[in-house]
Amino acid sequence: MVEMNKILDINPVDLLVTVEAGVITESVSKAVEHLNLFFPPDPGSMKSSTIGGNIAENAGGLRGLKYGVTKDYVNSIEIVLPTGEIVNMGSNTVKAVTGYNFVDLICGSEGTLGVITKATLGLLPIPADRASILSFFKDMTDAAKTVIDIVAQGVITATLEIVDKVTINAIEDFLKIGLDRTVGAMLLIEVDGQKGATEIEADIVLKVCKSNNALSVRKAKNSQERDKLWEARRAALSSLSRIKPSTILEDATVQRSRIVELVEAVDGIAQKYNIMIGTFGHAGDGNLHPTILTDLRIPEEAEKTEKAIEEIFKATIALGGTLSGEHGIGITKAQYLKLELSKPVYDLMEKVKNAFDPNNILNPGKMKCVWNS
Ligand SMILES: Cc1cc2nc3c(=O)[nH]c(=O)nc-3n(C[C@H](O)[C@H](O)[C@H](O)COP(=O)(O)OP(=O)(O)OC[C@H]3O[C@@H](n4cnc5c(N)ncnc54)[C@H](O)[C@@H]3O)c2cc1C
Repeated sequence: MVEMNKILDINPVDLLVTVEAGVITESVSKAVEHLNLFFPPDPGSMKSSTIGGNIAENAGGLRGLKYGVTKDYVNSIEIVLPTGEIVNMGSNTVKAVTGYNFVDLICGSEGTLGVITKATLGLLPIPADRASILSFFKDMTDAAKTVIDIVAQGVITATLEIVDKVTINAIEDFLKIGLDRTVGAMLLIEVDGQKGATEIEADIVLKVCKSNNALSVRKAKNSQERDKLWEARRAALSSLSRIKPSTILEDATVQRSRIVELVEAVDGIAQKYNIMIGTFGHAGDGNLHPTILTDLRIPEEAEKTEKAIEEIFKATIALGGTLSGEHGIGITKAQYLKLELSKPVYDLMEKVKNAFDPNNILNPGKMKCVWNS
């Protein structure tokens, strides 16, 4: 798909851009920057992921709390059905309720229902002002409580990211940018909007951090410092993956109000199995990436890793959460679908798959659960 990489049309009046599916995510915003517009979904992989892949996975990103995820910006798509027909779905009007919402069905379908070839995406004006805030805490619990309180104070930040001690140390080893290795957790927060409004919101964020026992909290002094902070956050996964031969990134997601409990559950599981877990993620969305650092070549390590992953999923579901906030189910998580879905719902999924793809030729085996195993 990467050769289908043309930006076909930019429509600044209706805030729309039409692209081929192989266009790299970051290039969409770059193509409309001169019009003071941007494409909000910003997965950590935006320098390499494609719009087709983002739609297929319904990718989220760092700005999800305020701006939502990929599906919130997909107006219409062209897809090639597994039976060969080329069809268009959706509408480029602001509102449309004609027929079933097939566009939302395709978003997150993991390439099992059709090959996306073209998409018309929504854009937004670039916010006039932004401020980034960095705050350190003694532990993840204080940081997670802060996340809940910031939103409870009426501030919907553009980003609200949490990083634990293991990950802070990994980033510092990799980038050497002067992060404090002694702290237990860090929050990276960005507010954006009209000038004046961002200052008020940043002040509220600073106060909430302090009232939750922040060890330190400060605003980035300038855009260079701000860019450095976000570069550090984007390097979280690559930094962790340098520690051990195997890196397994999970995607546990709960309601924001349960994030403290999820953080504590993951910590308990790491201790119980004596395994290294680095946790970071989009805490404002309740979406954490507990990342298990291990060596799957060693059978005992592989065994306890599998048990720990299953416990993380079970704890997430027990907290009313979901198996995946943004990365999808694929093959490796397919067996866990039965923890979250009822059998009738899973059967409906199978019927939908069969209606689109009667010959089972598109990504067979993805999201495929053997129910009685
Ligand atoms: C470092 C890193 C950071 C990441 N950060 C995030 C993040 O912040 N948020 C997030 O949501 N995800 C993140 N991801 C996961 C991943 O990058 C996203 O899911 C992304 O949307 C995948 O896009 P891709 O083009 O790379 O797709 P691929 O990985 O190539 O494909 C993903 C799936 O989509 C299907 N697919 C791809 N293109 C099409 C198409 N045109 N039509 C139909 N099906 C298609 C494929 O068959 C496959 O099943 C991250 C990954 C990495 C490695």
